[in-house]
Amino acid sequence: RTADLTGLPTGIPEALRDEGIEELYPPQAEAVEAGLTDGESLVAAVPTASGKTLIAELAMLSSVARGGKALYIVPLRALASEKKAEFERWEEYGIDVGVSTGNYESDGEWLSSRDIIVATSEKVDSLVRNNAAWMDQLTCVVADEVHLVDDRHRGPTLEVTLAKLRRLNPNLQVVALSATVGNAGVVADWLDAELVKSDWRPIDLKMGVHYGNAVSFADGSQREVPVGRGERQTPALVADALEGDGEGDQGSSLVFVNSRRNAESAARRMADVTERYVTGDERSDLAELAAEIRDVSDTETSEDLANAVAKGAAFHHAGLAAEHRTLVEDAFRDRLIKCICATPTLAAGVNTPSRRVVVRDWQRYDGDYGGMKPLDVLEVHQMMGRAGRPGLDPYGEAVLLAKDADARDELFERYIWADAEDVRSKLAAEPALRTHLLATVASGFAHTREGLLEFLDQTLYATQTDDPERLGQVTDRVLDYLEVNGFVEFEGETIRATPVGHTVSRLYLDPMSAAEIIDGLEWAADHRNEKLRALADETPEKPKRDRSESDDGPGGFQRASEMVAAGGEGGDGADGGDGDADEFETDRTYPTPLGLYHLVCRTPDMYQLYLKSGDRETYTELCYEREPEFLGRVPSEYEDVAFEDWLSALKTAKLLEDWVGEVDEDRITERYGVGPGDIRGKVETAEWLLGAAERLASELDLDSVYAVREAKKRVEYGVREELLDLAGVRGVGRKRARRLFEAGVESRADLREADKSRILAALRGRRKTAQNILEAAGRKDPSMDEVDEDDAPDDAVP
Ligand code: ADP
Repeated sequence: RTADLTGLPTGIPEALRDEGIEELYPPQAEAVEAGLTDGESLVAAVPTASGKTLIAELAMLSSVARGGKALYIVPLRALASEKKAEFERWEEYGIDVGVSTGNYESDGEWLSSRDIIVATSEKVDSLVRNNAAWMDQLTCVVADEVHLVDDRHRGPTLEVTLAKLRRLNPNLQVVALSATVGNAGVVADWLDAELVKSDWRPIDLKMGVHYGNAVSFADGSQREVPVGRGERQTPALVADALEGDGEGDQGSSLVFVNSRRNAESAARRMADVTERYVTGDERSDLAELAAEIRDVSDTETSEDLANAVAKGAAFHHAGLAAEHRTLVEDAFRDRLIKCICATPTLAAGVNTPSRRVVVRDWQRYDGDYGGMKPLDVLEVHQMMGRAGRPGLDPYGEAVLLAKDADARDELFERYIWADAEDVRSKLAAEPALRTHLLATVASGFAHTREGLLEFLDQTLYATQTDDPERLGQVTDRVLDYLEVNGFVEFEGETIRATPVGHTVSRLYLDPMSAAEIIDGLEWAADHRNEKLRALADETPEKPKRDRSESDDGPGGFQRASEMVAAGGEGGDGADGGDGDADEFETDRTYPTPLGLYHLVCRTPDMYQLYLKSGDRETYTELCYEREPEFLGRVPSEYEDVAFEDWLSALKTAKLLEDWVGEVDEDRITERYGVGPGDIRGKVETAEWLLGAAERLASELDLDSVYAVREAKKRVEYGVREELLDLAGVRGVGRKRARRLFEAGVESRADLREADKSRILAALRGRRKTAQNILEAAGRKDPSMDEVDEDDAPDDAVP
């Protein structure tokens, strides 16, 4: 019973009881018996929705009660704020909660006053690199979804971070939460932890396969779900769940598909099904929700989502804006939205249980593999585990789809009877070691090859490998790479990070990204005059752009003459810049923004856009047109892979150029086939990488610092150069900045002095917004009362 729990801060057991948690679930009880609340390390491998979070909370709260400090590591940034909100309910019992996301290059000193801190593994890794003082006060660390150490891209960071934290605090309690993987025991051995492994679920899960006119469940039962001629299985299953058993227990469905596009098109189809089950009251609530969704952004994704939501269905994928995701998840939990079509991101972590789960696609395109690949058992189990809402449903149902009896049998074998895969460390991959070995040396965890190997010996990789030689070999190769690129130096046995090496580690860059950026900037310094001349010579004169086109950005060219003219500090722009080296004596014009965007887009820290059919031709052409702007030699078309990568980076850079050219988000999503969330993602990554480039340029004394800073600021605000000042004012943003500018209010100073009616007219009469903006700009009399936008002069209305 929770009331009998000891070692927790005063009031917590009662609070749990008030939440309806009177008895521990069996795996939770087992964890407490294993010493969870006495500081014992533990690996809990239990199914989704079986109360792992409470296991973590009990460990953290008891640790804090003993005067300690706890850290909760989440796998996704999106989950950090969700977890923080969840833990904040303990604040009334004197527990301070903090979340640390964003800016990698800080020591997060303010966090030292918090009792519970939530962060991603990348953030924790960077805090260790920046020597956050409170790190050695930690007494308890929770690793959520620890089976993700198996993830090629992000696993090694979690693995190394746990090893470092344990090294810093030998008595640290480590609580690792895991899905039910095959080899949880190995993970427990690695962490010197007790193991709680269980298949227990708070609500029964019936797994089955639909084929023909019925679902066959693993327990031998069947449920008739007829599919009419020419109809599809999924809508039939969604409708069937909504029919319930005729007793009014309408059930919602989660449909998992393998791509964003499929999620969107499936939602469109499911909306026609759910619409039939929406009641009158619900209809007006849904209409309101749809309006809220449209308010978030005026993109096509937003419109599509709103249209589906109005009828009671939705889609959910990583390309959605965060506000959209939250609105959809909440409405689904409130049973207003009756069906979500999602990519598997929803299965990881977000708490959205559903009466029925349909795993429509169990294969997905894998770029490295070059074709469709079956999903892991673990992934499918996690999706299926979302079925069944405790307290609402008698049981959950998870259904796979088969076209014939053979396929049905195969699916039973492959997913329903099968155990999840083993977790395997991915640490020995070179990119991972590159980053982590540099950081290990830079932050003083090891100073010699032997020391490094000894440190690596504490990782899961070392526990698992049967080829101890291999780690030594890769380590040597990586150390060579770091030395050649000037990030570390040897002095006898001792390895030290160079000043640049330290910077790279603190900036949280992959050393290969840093090397690429440094090479590019140095190349630019060497070729500056030659390239500026090429830009001035080769660029054809184009007619001045018409305002009405302003949505479309600068198109392919930002005219070199314009760039050169803009270059003279306070220049009058009169001379178009022709040919003489002396005239290029300014660092504002070169490198160009596109050149810099391309440079950061070709580093391994940027996920590049894929080339779709037809893109190769488009971007090859663009590549030749914009050749003088690239910072480095363009690979020849015969270097197949390198050239293809170059073009993908160009496509990504072009997206950024459109963004800073003030092209509408909607146009960008259409042009590049991405969601609004992806634009955000690219923009944030570019901002971070350009910030890192700025630091490196200044450290290496390269004169491109100014150009880099400007390119970064433009990405941050998504505006052309002339709007930078305005867009920096809180509450303005790219669209309002443009409207103000066109109305003659061109700077922060203008905001303080211009005629208020002019400002109000430019802001389309939004009084409250206008007042906030004027306050932010530091105007002495920001009040907008009694200002009439109709008093504005004619030229104020763009
Ligand atoms: P997991 O993290 O394992 O996916 P959660 O921790 O989100 O699962 O738990 C799922 C739900 O179960 C939550 O709503 C939680 O409040 C509830 N829950 C957890 N433990 C108990 C308990 N002992 N008694 C009743 N409800 C519980």
